[in-house]
Amino acid sequence: MKTDVFIAGGGVGGLALAAKLASRGVHVTIAEQLTKESPVYKGELLQPKTLAILERLGVIEEIEACGHVLDQLRFQEIKRRPHQEPEEINLTELDYGRVASIYDHSLMVPHEKTKAILRNKGKSYEEYFHYLGGARFLGFENGMAKVKHNKEFKFIQAQVYVGAEGRSSPTRDAMDVKVKRKDYNHHFLTVTIPRPETFTKGKIITTESCFLGLFPLPDNEVRTVFLIKAGEYKTIKEKGLEYLYQAYSELEPELAEGVRAIKDWKTVQLMIPFTYHVDHYYSGNLAIIGDAAHTVHPMAGEGMNLAIQDADVLGELLAWCKEEDKPYDEYLHYYEDVRKPRVSFLLNLSHLSALVYSFRFELWRQFRSRAVQRIYDDDPLHVKQMLNISGLGRWDFSLFDRAIQGNILPPRKKKVSDRQQKKYLFSEKEDYPWRYQEKG
Ligand SMILES: Cc1cc2nc3c(=O)[nH]c(=O)nc-3n(C[C@H](O)[C@H](O)[C@H](O)COP(=O)(O)OP(=O)(O)OC[C@H]3O[C@@H](n4cnc5c(N)ncnc54)[C@H](O)[C@@H]3O)c2cc1C
Repeated sequence: MKTDVFIAGGGVGGLALAAKLASRGVHVTIAEQLTKESPVYKGELLQPKTLAILERLGVIEEIEACGHVLDQLRFQEIKRRPHQEPEEINLTELDYGRVASIYDHSLMVPHEKTKAILRNKGKSYEEYFHYLGGARFLGFENGMAKVKHNKEFKFIQAQVYVGAEGRSSPTRDAMDVKVKRKDYNHHFLTVTIPRPETFTKGKIITTESCFLGLFPLPDNEVRTVFLIKAGEYKTIKEKGLEYLYQAYSELEPELAEGVRAIKDWKTVQLMIPFTYHVDHYYSGNLAIIGDAAHTVHPMAGEGMNLAIQDADVLGELLAWCKEEDKPYDEYLHYYEDVRKPRVSFLLNLSHLSALVYSFRFELWRQFRSRAVQRIYDDDPLHVKQMLNISGLGRWDFSLFDRAIQGNILPPRKKKVSDRQQKKYLFSEKEDYPWRYQEKG
């Protein structure tokens, strides 16, 4: 079997890449081991840059129809009071509206919905999109991809092979890259529960020792993410669901009823955060995208977005190579040149956000509360934070910024103008530089 591009793994990254390639007349074969929807929670927050990419793929209307808009993120510090309403110590609202773009919000979309929409988009280019469900990619033999499909082995010959298999990636293994994993002192419990119709804002509620992230989904549901100490899962489970009911109710009384919809620990997923970033994204005619290349701490809600953003750059590059009749392997370095520094930057940003919530003592809580409030009080910090997590651009934090955030210097009074900010939005030339460098 022959194809232009072979993709191992039909997660969000593989599907976004395949849909883009097929839409541009590139023959793509995608092997996905699963035959039906996965029950595993894998991220739902689509950041502004991802929305822009989905719009260009022609699926934004369907995505929006299945999504819940988040235009703000609320950070609430409270004091928990058993069987009473919590006492609010501080409330900070960070606003996607500070991003100078038409994509000034994020969207919560069930993960499997996003995948289904991308898969259907690919299928609409039936001449070019070849999807093998229930097909497990095993590795390479004689320069071809070896796939087990319907109990048979298939060999697929392609010009480029892309590993989009997620955290465990045979393509990455074949590339012989280094993976250095970093672990954290905390884990998360995550579960979707019903929410009141009026509970529409994304919210992170913290005390000196607790963290509860709440991200509303459509259909009056809310994704909840509850931080626990690493290794504490078994003890918490032994305490019974009543422990969760009480913790959630004391942190967010509005969800006291919704949390009781959890009837079985089976619906509560344990999430173990860790990070790694490989040292190279391609080798010869092999490339890796998404979690095969990097895993990010879930605090900043970036993992799925980085995968789709990788797919966009690699997809544009491969489609351009085909259109311009250029040898794919000579141009793959552009994919790494564009994506690797951006991913490093976001990995670092997510790591810092994770540290902010990693320590359980009162002085740290006070430091955190002030640091988050400072992002709101100081407009350049606010703009940089939202622009950076949006994926639409990059504006580095300076030492001066950090001194303001750390309460060493006072916040600035001046607002950042859209014109000033626009210098830091990624231009088309920065996203797809090969088109311009080739023109000279
Ligand atoms: C528990 C958990 C919670 C997360 N929470 C968030 C979050 O809140 N926000 C966020 O943005 N991100 C989150 N992420 C990260 C996010 O899910 C990933 O970054 C994103 O899904 C990466 O997409 P991907 O396409 O690279 O890989 P995946 O989504 O992992 O897709 C890989 C696909 O490849 C298939 N596959 C694997 N091996 C093979 C093989 N050998 N042959 C054929 N098919 C194969 C798999 O079945 C899967 O469908 C979370 C991840 C996990 C695991």
